[in-house]
Amino acid sequence: MAEQLVQIDNKPPSGEWRDPKVEFRKGVFCYSAQPKNVTYLGMANPRQWQPFDADWKLPSDWKEIILEGLKDRLKKYRSFRLFMDICVRCGACADKCHFYLGSGDPKNMPVMRAELLRSVYVRYFTASGRLFGAGRELTEDVIKEWFYYFYQCTECRRCSVFCPYGIDTAEITMIGRELLNLIGCNINWILEPAANCFRTGNHLGIQPHAFKDSLEFAADELEEITGIRVELPINRKGAEILFVMPSADYFATPHYFTLLGYMTLFHEIGLDFTYSAFASEGGNFGLFTSHEMTKRLNAKIYEEARRLGVKWILGGECGHMWRVLNQYMDTMNGPADFLEEPVSPITGTRFENARSTRMVHICEFTADLLYNDKIKLAPKRNDDLAVTFHDSCNPSRAMGLLEEPRYILRRACNRFYEMPENTIREQTFCCGSGSGLGTDENLEMRLRGGFPRANAVKYVKEKHGVNLLACICAIDKATLPTLMDYWVPGVQVAGVHELLGNALVMTGEKERTTNLRGEPLPAEVTHA
Ligand code: SF4
Ligand code: SF4
Repeated sequence: MAEQLVQIDNKPPSGEWRDPKVEFRKGVFCYSAQPKNVTYLGMANPRQWQPFDADWKLPSDWKEIILEGLKDRLKKYRSFRLFMDICVRCGACADKCHFYLGSGDPKNMPVMRAELLRSVYVRYFTASGRLFGAGRELTEDVIKEWFYYFYQCTECRRCSVFCPYGIDTAEITMIGRELLNLIGCNINWILEPAANCFRTGNHLGIQPHAFKDSLEFAADELEEITGIRVELPINRKGAEILFVMPSADYFATPHYFTLLGYMTLFHEIGLDFTYSAFASEGGNFGLFTSHEMTKRLNAKIYEEARRLGVKWILGGECGHMWRVLNQYMDTMNGPADFLEEPVSPITGTRFENARSTRMVHICEFTADLLYNDKIKLAPKRNDDLAVTFHDSCNPSRAMGLLEEPRYILRRACNRFYEMPENTIREQTFCCGSGSGLGTDENLEMRLRGGFPRANAVKYVKEKHGVNLLACICAIDKATLPTLMDYWVPGVQVAGVHELLGNALVMTGEKERTTNLRGEPLPAEVTHA
């Protein structure tokens, strides 16, 4: 199978590109949203349907809805209107998308993905379209094509780094998905987590008592490894800091070991904090649905901070939570001026970058502790690992969090190696499964989209013997293990705070014999 997937045909298909032709072949698309989830979220046109059906059961006035929706958004979002108008088709973005590189499908070039929507804009909203018929007619086949390609874009924004005009194709995809949602064309892997989030506060629908059980279970495991019982403050009013993490950290692996890492750290520095059983999710699948949904889900974190009376918020290793925080939160629900400007209670560092959002990334927080020598590490405990770092798209490109994770890794691990420069930092390659596309029915497209990232990992594996890919995003931790098993077997995936927790020397801990996964420490490590 791997041999077949690398046979990528870059020859453009014959015929006119404007003819919308898509084949919903198993493995390259996501299933439709279940009506119960569409109904729960109060969205349009709940029904049973699948993308491979001939009849998508669209509302009779679907065309008017889309054109009216497009008109509204052109008025509301100046950036969107600009992106529709200013592309000069220079092609600088063409080979920058991992889906194009992995599939060879020209409509996965960012410029072409945007053109799918732009061509309709030109036809209905410009003089050349209205008078001379430029652009193309909006038909049901165009809607199917939008669905296919807007759900083959992970909204990673790599293409925007290379566009001389700063056109952000992710923003175009977001509008494309919003329009599709107006007529009920959405996918279950996005709407079910969003609906669960509204119901219980997190993607999996975990209730408060189960949230508490999960944390207690983690504390039990950590006690076995370290001999120390960590505290579990949940919904504690008056705590200084509210800590919010992606829910995968307390129900999935390898995320769970990152949670153990946070726990070791918070205990060791005596942090005055609380978890919340209601703001029990940092992730925001609204970002993959609509601006309105993004705003509603983001508001929960701030309402909980207000209810608990904390001073500021600390956020865990999540990807798109940070994009929402840094790019949208201020205009959606901010500024959060009922909270205080974050100051580390341990080092006194003022996080001026969080002056408005009042929310600090755990990597900024931990790097500052290390910089001020507030914690002691025994990196030898990670000596069986040769580590590289995957910059998760959102923390890197949406908030510029580039050096802090590396600073932690270099202190916590003795063997750290970078992947080639054009595959990391701002130019990082996506995991291929972000923005709600990390579902199993979409596996072939995920493996194709993840191919450029995997290729760079293969390079450092062969050159330096890398056997661990560190990252700071819950979706990465969920999907990169499959990608590695497929393209680069022998490379594991872990959170940065898992590696920190392995190395952290806790005051009064028993002699550690295992890492946080319960695996034996390297033979030469007897004690810190
Ligand atoms: S945002 Fe990412 S996935 Fe979407 S077109 Fe650009 S590079 Fe491709
Ligand atoms: S790089 Fe920018 S201007 Fe050039 S084709 Fe791509 S989106 Fe258009």
